[in-house]
Amino acid sequence: MEYVVIGHGTAGQTASAVLKKVDPDSRVYVIEKGRYVSNHPCSLPMVLGGRLELKALEESALKGRVNLILGAKADYIDLERKVVRYEKDGSKDELPYDRLVLATGLKPTFPRVEGLDLEGVGTVWDIESVAKLLKILGNKVVVVGGSATGIEVASELSKTGREVVLIEALEQLMPGKLDLPISSLVARELTEMGVKVMLKTRLEGLEGEGGKLRRVKTNSGTIEADTAVIVTGAKPNSDLALKSGLKIGETGAVWVDDYMFTSDPNVLAAGDVAEVRDFVTGERVTTGLASTALVQGRIAAENAAGMRVKYRGALSPYIVPVGDYWFGGVGISASKADSLGIEYLSFRFAGSDLPKYMPGRDRSVIWLITDTEGRILGAQVFGRRDVRGRILFITAAIYAGFKVQDIRVMEFAYQPELCDVLDPVVVASEGMSRKYRLLL
Ligand SMILES: Cc1cc2nc3c(=O)[nH]c(=O)nc-3n(C[C@H](O)[C@H](O)[C@H](O)COP(=O)(O)OP(=O)(O)OC[C@H]3O[C@@H](n4cnc5c(N)ncnc54)[C@H](O)[C@@H]3O)c2cc1C
Repeated sequence: MEYVVIGHGTAGQTASAVLKKVDPDSRVYVIEKGRYVSNHPCSLPMVLGGRLELKALEESALKGRVNLILGAKADYIDLERKVVRYEKDGSKDELPYDRLVLATGLKPTFPRVEGLDLEGVGTVWDIESVAKLLKILGNKVVVVGGSATGIEVASELSKTGREVVLIEALEQLMPGKLDLPISSLVARELTEMGVKVMLKTRLEGLEGEGGKLRRVKTNSGTIEADTAVIVTGAKPNSDLALKSGLKIGETGAVWVDDYMFTSDPNVLAAGDVAEVRDFVTGERVTTGLASTALVQGRIAAENAAGMRVKYRGALSPYIVPVGDYWFGGVGISASKADSLGIEYLSFRFAGSDLPKYMPGRDRSVIWLITDTEGRILGAQVFGRRDVRGRILFITAAIYAGFKVQDIRVMEFAYQPELCDVLDPVVVASEGMSRKYRLLL
């Protein structure tokens, strides 16, 4: 078999490596428009905080046995002839395939305002954008967009001693993803670090002098700044799929079935460019996470090679650092349930992350969302210790269909330096079971 993978990001790297594993005699070609074998976008904010060199992210040695064509942009998939047309160094070429995996990711979007071309304006997207930002980074920074990336970038830049303002157009950080009990803690932590968080503040323009940024204009007033980092979102990079005649879903991403096949029987799609089903709601969604892209890339490759592995749907677990804390979530938020008209119960528990006698203990906050019978639909967690562990457990609990009544009597590993004997997830489940009389 001859496989072509388009895009060597998280989904494409996984797909190409898995193809070689499950079909070792095959030939696997990857067409990647970038110059790097890998560029690890999730670690870019740490570079801004000075905790990691940008060079550490520039991977250029290929580990697997795939044929990677770098600096090559796929510009058409001829579905009839089963060939991909691509352009490299100004010349055009073609590659035939038996099966193709499309993994072209997202592309960043920017607000339509004046001044985006001023010196001092940048974004955090890939190695090139961060290299540019590092050169222009001043001391008065406005981060535009209260997304996970915006929060992480604001936190990292603030740790370097810069004056940082984070502006978000809506009334809370990460609207739709986070609910107020957790987003308010994130905003408070940023504020305590010295970041000025301005909610309900929309970017209206960027003003400069002599080609350099001087002011950021918003509906809440003008902010003096020498740097603006615009992280206002991204959309599926599905132009190639559209142009080639593949079905585009309602989100603008490439429609795939539960086996990652697109509307063409020889083309699969995975990662941020694919529109999949949400595990909890069944809605058509895009995901925007490396961990999710990896699972989809694996399943797409296995099915391209003739296996029949079902994608169970996206739960999209995530975790983000903010100051000395972490927050994360999985499944749906209460605001998402509201917007979809789903009946739900919610519960907030705030407790200690270590036994009362332990020095250095801190708060641990759990926010649970269940259906009316107590089955978990989503959760958000804030704290200093083991936030990821709790998100991992709740992710598995949602997949397994656990109710809070089940979790309140489950056994969790305990050691006083790491946690309290009653894990906050257990205490939250117990509290929720009692509050809503879900016990029996
Ligand atoms: C700053 C930042 C921080 C992040 N932090 C996290 C995190 O902490 N945790 C997490 O889970 N996720 C995080 N993400 C998201 C995560 O990086 C993405 O969800 C993940 O990389 C998606 O993988 P993908 O393979 O679908 O797309 P990508 O990794 O974007 O790969 C797509 C690839 O396709 C190539 N390509 C596109 N079009 C063409 C074409 N026509 N021809 C050839 N090649 C093409 C691109 O050059 C790119 O290399 C972060 C993203 C950013 C930007």
